[in-house]
Amino acid sequence: MKVIDHLQRAKGTLLSFEILPPLKGKDIRSIYEGIDPLMDFKPSFINVTYHREEVVYQDMGQGLLRKIRLRKRPGTVGICAMIKAKYEVDTVPHLICGGFSREDTEDALIELNFLGIDNVLALRGDAIKSEPAFIPERDGHAHAEDLIRQISSLNKGKYLHDEEQEAAPTDLCIGAACYPEKHAEALNLSTDIAYLKRKVDAGAQYLVTQMFFDNARFFRFVELCRAEGIQVPIIPGLKPLTTLKHIAFIPKTFSIDLPDAFARELMKCTTDAQVKKVGVEWSIQQARELKAAGVPCLHFYTMGKSEAVRAIASQVF
Ligand SMILES: Cc1cc2nc3c(=O)[nH]c(=O)nc-3n(C[C@H](O)[C@H](O)[C@H](O)COP(=O)(O)OP(=O)(O)OC[C@H]3O[C@@H](n4cnc5c(N)ncnc54)[C@H](O)[C@@H]3O)c2cc1C
Repeated sequence: MKVIDHLQRAKGTLLSFEILPPLKGKDIRSIYEGIDPLMDFKPSFINVTYHREEVVYQDMGQGLLRKIRLRKRPGTVGICAMIKAKYEVDTVPHLICGGFSREDTEDALIELNFLGIDNVLALRGDAIKSEPAFIPERDGHAHAEDLIRQISSLNKGKYLHDEEQEAAPTDLCIGAACYPEKHAEALNLSTDIAYLKRKVDAGAQYLVTQMFFDNARFFRFVELCRAEGIQVPIIPGLKPLTTLKHIAFIPKTFSIDLPDAFARELMKCTTDAQVKKVGVEWSIQQARELKAAGVPCLHFYTMGKSEAVRAIASQVF
């Protein structure tokens, strides 16, 4: 079933979450361990991230380094198919522009269609770590908007080349990303929202936010989107901070601010256990307020660890 149908039929706030494919070589059981504890809360859909290849240097000895491209977390589509079969829960594979030509994208969409997957989250993806800015693939898309347009065309039966006679249309529900504190590269929040409107006009049927820790920013963002004419559902994304490492990398990596009251409590923490207590409590308050405000769904970023999300969900749902 499509995400948009889940949202339209919902009688209250839904729960969904995002998982990452395991690191290459790790067992699929780590995925079950991430999903099983959250099944009690009847997730409406589960997102599976897509990870582009990275450039790494292999030491060949004698001072020689070999440059190789390595995809550290393959398996997005396979995991989606597994979740549908094993848990009978709808899935949302993420699809990015980076590393994909338009042909590759079309092939990937055909594969999702054949697997009976009804949803896709259309993203640009970040720049490769060794490159200063995002570089699209030759004949690939530079922005999520263009990817969304390609998916929308395929939904109308328009394939890249004309030779497909009486081509069968796909029927994928398209989601897109949005940023209540603006995307890192955007000039400001209003230009970012203007581009967001273009993604919706191109065919995005709902939006999922980047993680945020200040609900006031989310509510303001939704107001600004509505004022811009963006009418699709906007799903807030929440991430409980649970380790000292999270405090060090999350604000920088995701270009987000921590509100004063939260930051002050975190600064007192000296162990992971203390961070987890403060982080989970903060997320519970955030989730309760968002639910009371009638958000369509609460989407949790698990980053492979579901214990904290379970603790939050058990207090909120
Ligand atoms: C919910 C969510 C899930 C994610 N999942 C993944 C994942 O699985 N894999 C992964 O690699 N990354 C993922 N990301 C990260 C995402 O790929 C990065 O944030 C990326 O830098 C931007 O992606 P986007 O789809 O928002 O890009 P875009 O919408 O293309 O926007 C990127 C930047 O370009 C600007 N812009 C947008 N359209 C145009 C235009 N037409 N012309 C000029 N400028 C424009 C925007 O203002 C923004 O600054 C996710 C992010 C979120 C919020």
